[in-house]
Amino acid sequence: MNFLGFRNWFDSLSNCSHLVIAGPCSAESEEQVLDTARQISKIEQVKVFRAGVWKPRTSPNDFEGVGEIALKWLKKVKSETGLLTCVEVATSKHVEKCLENDVDIFWVGARTVANPFSVQSIADVLKGVDKPVLIKNPINPDLKLWVGAIERIYKAGINKIAAIHRGFYPFEDTRFRNIPKWEIPIELKTLFPNLQIITDPSHIAGKIELIKEVASQALCMNVDGLMIETHNNPKVALSDASQQLTPLQLDVLLKELKFRKEQIINKELLSDLQNWRFQIDSLDFQMLELLSKRMEIVEKMGKYKEERNMSVFQLERWKEIRATRIKAGEELGLDSDFVKKILQIIHNQSIIAQSKNK
Ligand code: PEP
Ligand code: MN
Repeated sequence: MNFLGFRNWFDSLSNCSHLVIAGPCSAESEEQVLDTARQISKIEQVKVFRAGVWKPRTSPNDFEGVGEIALKWLKKVKSETGLLTCVEVATSKHVEKCLENDVDIFWVGARTVANPFSVQSIADVLKGVDKPVLIKNPINPDLKLWVGAIERIYKAGINKIAAIHRGFYPFEDTRFRNIPKWEIPIELKTLFPNLQIITDPSHIAGKIELIKEVASQALCMNVDGLMIETHNNPKVALSDASQQLTPLQLDVLLKELKFRKEQIINKELLSDLQNWRFQIDSLDFQMLELLSKRMEIVEKMGKYKEERNMSVFQLERWKEIRATRIKAGEELGLDSDFVKKILQIIHNQSIIAQSKNK
């Protein structure tokens, strides 16, 4: 697949090094949309205004977007501010409505990308359409599913495609609302070096305090753009209130971030090393989160054993743990001594944790 169409389109937009997309999670009222857009349009780096019109919400009792009426507000945004508009489409009907109302860019959301039938029905109505389409990663960390969605849209003849990295749904509570798992967009970039990747720090972070950290990390990874949720009054936002910045906060953030497009020397080598470091960092943080979850359960077990007057150390269980993990490790190509040492350290720490109430 050749994704140079997006790059050419993006280069023709302006001389910005990165594509910055900002706007509210949801369009809520004409006043909210226009006020937010007017403020955002004063920030030079932002070229595209996003707004969710139909919202994929977990519960039917949550705010599901105002629907079609918002497309008229977005038309006003375009004519008044000159910002391009970008809307999430989840059905063929959404695409048709957006086309009727001159929306400039579409994005396919994480829940939709997880469903090939939905992606295909969107691809079918996009045949013959000449607009950029951004494809978010699916909520589950499945690179093939992401690639499959990109392929379906590409096969519909869309030549301006970029991917949006918005993190992956975690099983347990983590610092992030969605775990970044940088190794997955890196793998995507390795498969398709000319595919542009835009990071959405808002949905990864889930709270404004973490947005700068995620956005800086993304820029260190040489991503091609950022999509940042911005609302004129986040406190009263009807969706994703805790992660939306005000236009002023967005302006400050964009000034603080280091937008570096080109590496100075030996670009290939440097970015390979950087990419590996990010993969290692990401995996290490995931390991630490897993270890912390493990210790939480260990402590609960400690209390259980204490209440029943059971001994902390149980030889049979320890033997079983050791044997099964060493075997599993060997199957994964890990040296058995190495696995044994790690297990001993973890087991010792577990015993210390469970003995502390004794
Ligand atoms: C959004 O961008 O508001 C959205 C719903 O995103 P995602 O599909 O990443 O959850
Ligand atoms: Mn949102």
